[in-house]
Amino acid sequence: MDCNTVKPGVDCLFMSNSGCAYNGGSCHQIVEQCQGCNHVITYPAGQYCRTYSDPSVKWIDARCNFATHNRIETREERKKLNPLKASKRSRGK
Ligand code: SF4
Repeated sequence: MDCNTVKPGVDCLFMSNSGCAYNGGSCHQIVEQCQGCNHVITYPAGQYCRTYSDPSVKWIDARCNFATHNRIETREERKKLNPLKASKRSRGK
């Protein structure tokens, strides 16, 4: 059913004839860590995540697994910061 709270017109599983059944009665706005993610959508009520209703939960223990930003940098960082493999390679030669 289409949302009629903070994401008007968006099809949502939590929406019913009696209103939004999500925790608190609506989706929650993005958190600071979400800035730059392609899933952020701006609605008249604020900025919300396209894929998750409560973005703060996605960042409690680690990086959000749906995040589109910083992903490439993380992979490059891993390539640079792998001293164990670099050490093994240098020993093999
Ligand atoms: S996908 Fe993750 S990082 Fe991106 S806006 Fe949603 S909660 Fe935030």
